[in-house]
Amino acid sequence: MPRVIRHLLLAALAFLPLLAASLLLHGPLAHSAVWMPLTALLASLLILLTALNIRRQRHLTRLLKLTGSLEDRLLPFRTAMQQAPLSMIITDTQANIQYVNPFMVQRSGYTESELVGKNTRMLSSGTTPPETYRQMWEQLGRLQAWNGRFSSRDKSGRSYLEQVWMAPVLDVDGKLRQFVSIKQDISEQQRNLEHIQMQNSALELLTNNAPLPQILDTIFASSTLDHSGLYPIAFLVSTDKQNLHLASAPALPGVRELAALPVLVDSTLARTLTQSLSRPGFNPSPDLQNPVHAAARASGMHSCWSEPILDSAGFLAGLVLYYRTSKSLPASDELQLIGNMTDLIRLAVQRSQNLALLQLAETVYHNSNEALAVNDANGVFITVNPAFTRITGFSQTEIIGKDFSILYSDQHDEAFFERMHSRLEKKGRWKGEIWARRKNGELYPQFVSMSNTYNADGSVRFRVSLFADISQQKANEEQIWRQANFDSLTGIANRRFFITHLEHAIHTATRQQQRLGLLFIDLDKFKPINDRYGHRHGDRVLQEVAQRIQKQLREADFCARLGGDEFVVLLEGNPDMDAAMRIAQRIKDSVEEVIALDGIESRLSFSCGISFFPEHANTAEKLIHEADNAMYQAKREGRSQVIVSAGQNE
Ligand code: GH3
Ligand code: MG
Repeated sequence: MPRVIRHLLLAALAFLPLLAASLLLHGPLAHSAVWMPLTALLASLLILLTALNIRRQRHLTRLLKLTGSLEDRLLPFRTAMQQAPLSMIITDTQANIQYVNPFMVQRSGYTESELVGKNTRMLSSGTTPPETYRQMWEQLGRLQAWNGRFSSRDKSGRSYLEQVWMAPVLDVDGKLRQFVSIKQDISEQQRNLEHIQMQNSALELLTNNAPLPQILDTIFASSTLDHSGLYPIAFLVSTDKQNLHLASAPALPGVRELAALPVLVDSTLARTLTQSLSRPGFNPSPDLQNPVHAAARASGMHSCWSEPILDSAGFLAGLVLYYRTSKSLPASDELQLIGNMTDLIRLAVQRSQNLALLQLAETVYHNSNEALAVNDANGVFITVNPAFTRITGFSQTEIIGKDFSILYSDQHDEAFFERMHSRLEKKGRWKGEIWARRKNGELYPQFVSMSNTYNADGSVRFRVSLFADISQQKANEEQIWRQANFDSLTGIANRRFFITHLEHAIHTATRQQQRLGLLFIDLDKFKPINDRYGHRHGDRVLQEVAQRIQKQLREADFCARLGGDEFVVLLEGNPDMDAAMRIAQRIKDSVEEVIALDGIESRLSFSCGISFFPEHANTAEKLIHEADNAMYQAKREGRSQVIVSAGQNE
């Protein structure tokens, strides 16, 4: 009732006795004696009522004033309760809800009437540890405020984590009347925190070079994924680039069983996926022909988002499929999570590949038979491998900090090193043989490959050299060359070497317009030596003859055994007929001296034919042939003589 009307009614009530009194005084009973005291009573009643009314009015006015100021003072608190983005609940001492604020209504999904009167138990997810409640009641029992965390459940059944502040409300006598709680949904902060923790664990595993599947499992075990409703599967491309292998699928047991199945890169799955390999893609209805999609479908998955994993060179290294139970496109926060996880996986894959390459390089580095040295731009050693120490004799500690020239020998002139350095500067690479010196001073040949690595600004960062000790190889080559060019019995040149040498000599002599003389020697009646003293003795005699021939030669002359008991001598240095005859005679005298070997004394003579370049022939074969003819003539004419070819060069 409006206040003004209420006042008017009260005033009217106060005038009622007055009206009654005036009726009595002026009415038909006005002169009755009874009315005097009655009138006085009525008047005093009237006065009393009026006084009371005035007092009441004053009291009411005061009360109204008080109520108004109380409401004014409570207004900010009511606003805070109604508009704060925090859930607020007031319960009785038995935790029965008496009041919930609008935010609580909105967060829980229940209506106000569904909540008020119910016990707060209905809001619990059932996953909060009983210990938490025990501590809470203990604290509240001591009439103290409690701060902690609950896992709550909304009307749709989704749980969420809350930070709760709860305090007892006491009346003026200090008696417990109610509880008031303020709760904040911290699920998102918690998820972010867990995501960061997952990232940290993954990065820690990365730093500790943990196996890739373990890192993937850690990333996928993130509780953020549980909340998001994403179910990831990771595939990795095999080293031979032929297969995609399942690497991790922790949340999809059906798919996990496919781990042993190599998925061919050209399979349906890969084909579907390769369509979106260069960029991420959404597949609203994955093909059921595909065993992976089929297994995911069986686990309740209805759509798939694929993310390619490229290696640092840009080649496909793996694939991550994020399955979802709904058919809709992932929301922006889900896409952000997908991007975030994929980046982490990409990092792990690339690092694992680089690590594998590094381990491979390290194995090669340590086990290589070739020496490996890394020098800085100035040639100072930074690191060397065990083969380096084996070859050079310098240990890692002895060589680090030293200059590359410590390995040089004095076998090469300045120009050699200048050529080497200028090629290194221009092309960044140099290859070749160098005579180097070991720590013990021994010379040895090495075959070196040097190459530069550069800084971003193009300046030389490192010089990497790879070298092998080729002394053995050189010795082998030398042996092969000797076997091919020297007579194994006498050690002097063989026919093949003689012809090569003769051809070369003819070439030089032609240019210099000089003569060459060729002596063709065949021992006389050598066979009987073999027959009489045995083949071995014959061999020793042949060796002795070869030595005697050699002893008579000048430096420019060259002798060889053509085979059997045939020897040839090439006279260089422009010999004339007399000079040739003199040498032939000298050799003959020497060979014809007594040969005393193995206690056997024997004497031999020889027949010799001489031909001259260019008079008798201008090719090696012909020159030999002419001398051979002349030798035969000597045999025919009684042996033990020297005859000059009579042939003419046509
Ligand atoms: P001639 O005076 O006509 O030259 O008669 P010869 O006995 O020397 O016979 P000829 O030159 O025709 O043959 C060379 C002989 O040398 C044939 C073989 O018995 C012997 N002979 C060939 N090669 C070797 C060898 O490597 N070792 C030994 N011990 N004897 C050889
Ligand atoms: Mg002979």
